[in-house]
Amino acid sequence: MATHGSEGASQTHGDEIPGELDATGRIFPDLVVPSLDDGPRTSTVIAMCNQKGGVGKTTTTINLGAALAELGRSVLLVDFDPQGSASLGLGVHPHTIEHSVYDLLMGSELSFDDVVISNRIPGLDLLPANIDLSAAEVQLVSEVAREQSLRRVIAPVRDRYDFVLIDCAPSLGLLTINALTAADRVIIPMEAEYFALRGVALLTDTINKVTERLNSDLGMLGVLVTMFDARTLHSQQVLARLLEVFGDEVFHTVIRRTIRFPETTVAGEPITSYASSSRGAASYRSLAKEVLVRCARQ
Ligand code: ADP
Ligand code: MG
Repeated sequence: MATHGSEGASQTHGDEIPGELDATGRIFPDLVVPSLDDGPRTSTVIAMCNQKGGVGKTTTTINLGAALAELGRSVLLVDFDPQGSASLGLGVHPHTIEHSVYDLLMGSELSFDDVVISNRIPGLDLLPANIDLSAAEVQLVSEVAREQSLRRVIAPVRDRYDFVLIDCAPSLGLLTINALTAADRVIIPMEAEYFALRGVALLTDTINKVTERLNSDLGMLGVLVTMFDARTLHSQQVLARLLEVFGDEVFHTVIRRTIRFPETTVAGEPITSYASSSRGAASYRSLAKEVLVRCARQ
């Protein structure tokens, strides 16, 4: 497989090196990470959102979270998918947990501290989820201010974290509306595959409606291209199309397709610790810097 159609040009660039062409064909910026200040914390809440499954939402939540923690930020990951994949990816088995985000959502007696789990990765906390959360989608329907339930859970602890990352379920149902209502910013992970753009109109329409009706603070943080394979013309065409549609909303950092990511799920830890010197780890570290710079600008 040494000679593959479009290989030539794409092999010469694509690393996240300031001043050089990146995988998106733009000059990679010099990212000056804002320094940590000791002032009171005001967290940025980011929802990882795309109603398509398998586009890298969970992988991004875990690894962006871990990379931000490496940069000294305190991070809360909210697993907001009844499948509990973010919990599993951090080594927490959804069927073994006693309490979950569901209990907080439904207003049980439990406090946030009863449910939150600290991780081996310093600075990275997890609100776990399991299949119980699927009941919330139905039970919340009859609640007052049903779209605000997650916002209410997060509000009292926002001053404890620099970032709250919400891993959304693959749907645009009430759980995802809750995530968008609780969020300040959205990241849309998109796979560099045909049909990546299918359903995007519905997704942006949903985000716009939440912004108009429920959460005027909500804004787009960026579109993240995942599962990119520089060796295929196909991947490059999809990337070019995403750049046409989303312009500079597309992050400079592009996540390559590598078996290392499924491996990390099995290992139950982020790629930044499982394979610290891998390209995948470097990419999520680069994304973390881009996120810090974009959040500081807004
Ligand atoms: P989502 O949360 O959107 O459903 P996931 O993050 O769970 O997507 O990813 C779906 C599957 O693809 C998982 O098995 C994951 O390990 C794998 N995966 C995620 N990112 C990559 C990547 N860059 N390269 C290869 N496999 C990946
Ligand atoms: Mg997921």
